[in-house]
Amino acid sequence: MVGVVSDPVFMNHDTGGYHPESPMRVHYVHTVFEPGDPGILMVDPVRADESDIRLVHSKGHLDRVRRACVPGRYVSLDPDTVCSKDSFDIALLAAGSLIRLVEMAVAGEIDCAFASVRPPGHHATPNEAMGFCLFNNVAVAAEKAIASLGVTRVLIVDFDVHHGNGTQDCFYSRKDVLYFSSHQYPFYPGTGGMHETGAEGARGYTVNCPLGARKGDGEFMALYERVLLPVMRAFEPGLVLVSAGFDAHAMDPIGGMQLSSRGFAALAGLILENARQAGAPVVFSLEGGYNLDALRDSVREVVEVMKGGQAPKVRPSGFRELDDICEVQARYWPV
Ligand SMILES: [Zn+2]
Repeated sequence: MVGVVSDPVFMNHDTGGYHPESPMRVHYVHTVFEPGDPGILMVDPVRADESDIRLVHSKGHLDRVRRACVPGRYVSLDPDTVCSKDSFDIALLAAGSLIRLVEMAVAGEIDCAFASVRPPGHHATPNEAMGFCLFNNVAVAAEKAIASLGVTRVLIVDFDVHHGNGTQDCFYSRKDVLYFSSHQYPFYPGTGGMHETGAEGARGYTVNCPLGARKGDGEFMALYERVLLPVMRAFEPGLVLVSAGFDAHAMDPIGGMQLSSRGFAALAGLILENARQAGAPVVFSLEGGYNLDALRDSVREVVEVMKGGQAPKVRPSGFRELDDICEVQARYWPV
């Protein structure tokens, strides 16, 4: 059974008329989940306690976001990141809903889960909102799983086209949360070079896979097979969280990659299959993805695989940067 949070309430984070991170994103994704689908358990959104947000974020940050959300105007927390009246509440709902799905997955009530929530989270650092993100949903859920659910090791896989600098910041000196990211590079936000591997004492527990533009399904499959799989087997996570951004899609107006909707489903299949072997549930959380049709189609294909459908077969194709990434990671992992 796939647990899903998808609810029109997430449209209430109003970013203005022309922002790419628009309410229509979750509206489109919502059409994927048909009422009465026996493979899907729809879960109501849950508001995070402020104490849960504080597992990751400073009180100053929490209060700044709260104060920025006032009636009648838009407040920018950085050049890209807009708040309006309900944004604080919806950001609490996004983080809380992801926590709820993680709780259900860890308890075995569902096999895996998809949180179609916004605002996204992976650029939010402990002290700053940035890149459309207010609170780091995935980081909050990872901390909650460790603090309250008896999970000892969390793997975060981030296939958004952007590097999740906020998530990296949260766990850079930690060995109990491993952050793996594939991303376009150089690109916003500028972080995520392959030599950023973790702080002293936690080297190897941040795995950055920076990629030049125009990589497609075959290149991503080669990367995930050669790097993610051996890391995942050696790390033995008790929970896998996926920062599921779909802006590496060929049709995306912001990213410069060439993934197809099938390609995302193939990556999801690879993650799900290997997590299952490790006995770890997988919870996907929506990050980017700005072409509405591509976003909806990609989520549909991913959810089909989550429901037990056959993952699309993609033939891996090697490339020069992959050899460089493997050379760095071979210092830490059996890649
Ligand atoms: Zn992104």
